[in-house]
Amino acid sequence: MAEGQLTEEKIKQVLGEFTDPETGRDIVQLEQVHNLKLEDRKVSITLGLTTFSAPLWKQKQAELVELLEAKLPGPVEVSVELAVHERPTEKMGEVGLAAKSVIVVGSGKGGVGKSTIAVVMACELSRDGSKVGLRDADVYGPSIPHLIGATERPTMQNERIQPIMVDSLAVMSMGFLVPAGEAIIWRGPMLHGAITQFLRDTDWGELDYLIVDLPPGTGDVALSLSQLLPLSGAVVVCTPQDVALLDATKAIAMFRKVNINVLGMVENMSHFVCTDCGSRHDIFGSGGAKRRAAELDVPFLGEVPINTQLRIRGDEGTLRDSLDDDASGPYLRDICQTLVKTIVAQRRDEPPVPSLSVLK
Ligand code: ADP
Repeated sequence: MAEGQLTEEKIKQVLGEFTDPETGRDIVQLEQVHNLKLEDRKVSITLGLTTFSAPLWKQKQAELVELLEAKLPGPVEVSVELAVHERPTEKMGEVGLAAKSVIVVGSGKGGVGKSTIAVVMACELSRDGSKVGLRDADVYGPSIPHLIGATERPTMQNERIQPIMVDSLAVMSMGFLVPAGEAIIWRGPMLHGAITQFLRDTDWGELDYLIVDLPPGTGDVALSLSQLLPLSGAVVVCTPQDVALLDATKAIAMFRKVNINVLGMVENMSHFVCTDCGSRHDIFGSGGAKRRAAELDVPFLGEVPINTQLRIRGDEGTLRDSLDDDASGPYLRDICQTLVKTIVAQRRDEPPVPSLSVLK
């Protein structure tokens, strides 16, 4: 509790210390504070936040209440309501994609759960209220349609491909266009052309996040994407065995070589919890990815246990429901929270210039 008089001026001064998660800038300057009222010792405001930071809304609301209670001369009763603050998304790159953040999901090798993690991340961000697109760039084995249970063929409108909507998540995959089980052979230039065309010709609308599932191992697609768009960075999915960690280390080196920021590592199939006795088994050892992430100076985004239900969900095309499963849901939701916090922290360090000229 601070000393002094409780005035609107003082409240605005404290509010000015609070930053918008999307831009890393002061919420007063950006006109994200509305309905400021001071009656007796009751302070109430409405805080406008963008859908980009929807996964952090509750946390930001609590933090602002805490800040005001700590810094205003007390005793004081604080109430913060939330509202959506609109901030347009600028088109980026030569493909003209309107997305605030593009995240690629990669791995050193196949079968580690990269597509699974890409799908649940996109579903969770979208459930939280962000505008999300999910793009399958795993052109050699597009598994997203299967994992998410979408089998429709995309339609064309005004010469642009309309993504398939799964609830409010926009999904586009080569798998929608190629019959299941058919092999596609890509040569380098064709691959770059297909990646460009898919981004340019898909009608994504305005997105907060575009999640891109990369093919395992190779850097071609990552390199193409990084030339086309400013990427927020890469999430590297790995499993805990020593050999798998070597592959993940190579994937991180590959991203760094093509100047893609590594947002963090996810350890999938990290341990097994016995459904009969509830005990934890670290089949492949424990803490390997976390240690490797620290050695490589990469954030560790979290772990997901090996779980039969998660595999069944993937096979059945109901993967988004795993976010509510007791065995895997809390881990998957935690990873998303940590990912968004990591992106927001990086924006705070290097804030992007807001696209609206709101400074008077
Ligand atoms: P990748 O994209 O790395 O090739 P997938 O996401 O396609 O891997 O996953 C490979 C297989 O492993 C799928 O059958 C999927 O359902 C399963 N799987 C992924 N993560 C888990 C997990 N944590 N527990 C159990 N099965 C999993």
